[in-house]
Amino acid sequence: MDPDQHSIKQYLQEHQEEMVEMTQRLCSLATENPPGHHFEECVDYLEEIMRARGFATQKVRVPLEYQKKYLPPELWDKPRFNLISRWDTGGSKILHFNSHYDVVPATEGWKTDPFAPVIRGQRLFGRGTSDMKGCLVASIFAAQALRDLKLRPVWNLEFSFTADEEIGGECGAGFLVKNKIVQPDAAIVCEGGAGDSIMIGHRGVLWADIHVHGVPAHGSNPGAGINAFERGIHLAGRFLEYHQRCLERVTQHEMDKPHSRRPSMTLGGVSGGGSKVNTIPGWFHFTIDRRLIPEERVASVIREFQAILREAKRQDKTLKAEMKILTGFDAALTDPDSSLCRAACQAVRAVTGKIPNPRIFGAFTDLHFFTNQARCPTIGYGVEGNGIHGHQEYLVIPSLVKTARVYAEIARTLP
Ligand SMILES: [Zn+2]
Repeated sequence: MDPDQHSIKQYLQEHQEEMVEMTQRLCSLATENPPGHHFEECVDYLEEIMRARGFATQKVRVPLEYQKKYLPPELWDKPRFNLISRWDTGGSKILHFNSHYDVVPATEGWKTDPFAPVIRGQRLFGRGTSDMKGCLVASIFAAQALRDLKLRPVWNLEFSFTADEEIGGECGAGFLVKNKIVQPDAAIVCEGGAGDSIMIGHRGVLWADIHVHGVPAHGSNPGAGINAFERGIHLAGRFLEYHQRCLERVTQHEMDKPHSRRPSMTLGGVSGGGSKVNTIPGWFHFTIDRRLIPEERVASVIREFQAILREAKRQDKTLKAEMKILTGFDAALTDPDSSLCRAACQAVRAVTGKIPNPRIFGAFTDLHFFTNQARCPTIGYGVEGNGIHGHQEYLVIPSLVKTARVYAEIARTLP
């Protein structure tokens, strides 16, 4: 270990307790999303933290018009805020750290208060500890360590603490990237990989809502109406057959899990229709969550969906159905030979002592905004933990230091 690596390790170990406390305080702000509670409070606290460390800050409120474009009406009275913070080291390039500060709502079943994180042995239990306020804290302390130890990185460091990852990210990382409020040369999304695993991309996604129209009539005389539910389940059956055909497609990329190597499809995550037990249902709808392997393109999957609808209508002239696209993007991919990936692999190896494992993940994060929109190499890496979105979410406390060390190493060694 070189002397700088050693002093960073020592510095961060001495600050572990402070990192835990900051994570606890951040988690006590219950930024549950939906609907988006305590967002401004959280951003104000983060601004205070960054200013106290001498880093410039920029609080960004998403314009209501923009919010209305992407969020459902029930969220329009909850303003969306993001915080950007910068350490201008005099470099010509920007390394960006992104963390989302929103959390999924606390589900039933917590044995402790999800918003008053408690320490049990080596673990910190609470909503948002590993997804992902602990990661956010690790990124702040990485910068603090470098600054206090006078190890000025060659690249400027930039941070974004963003809203809405848990509901698609359009008013969070998506807003900042698409509007070029941040324009990094490389980015670390502080979640996804952990330990020796580095996320270098994720599958793409297409979310669609299929709406079937029928004609309501009295339930005693089904022939008098058109049953939207019955037509809907036939149509869903066609999508199930299509899913089977899709499973023959296998990616050539290294994936995190065996099931991620193929496309997947979840039908009916949201579904429903009709109005009354004795009325022929006049409408029925169901959603489709289709995940794309890196070789697939959203545009062609949309065409495949349209072809299924066309064929169904050709065979049943009474079928009236339409498809609404809710969201869609191609897989996110970062070149494993990029200088960011190489620096990340070296850093993970130096800190964990293990051979790093760069992988493409089955599930998505905000990472695609950086690879697909900002077009910069991006990795996903954060603290070790478990139970995200569940009622036993925790982070492994010593991994706060390890993760901050990895971030600091990457920032310090990027050429
Ligand atoms: Zn997350």
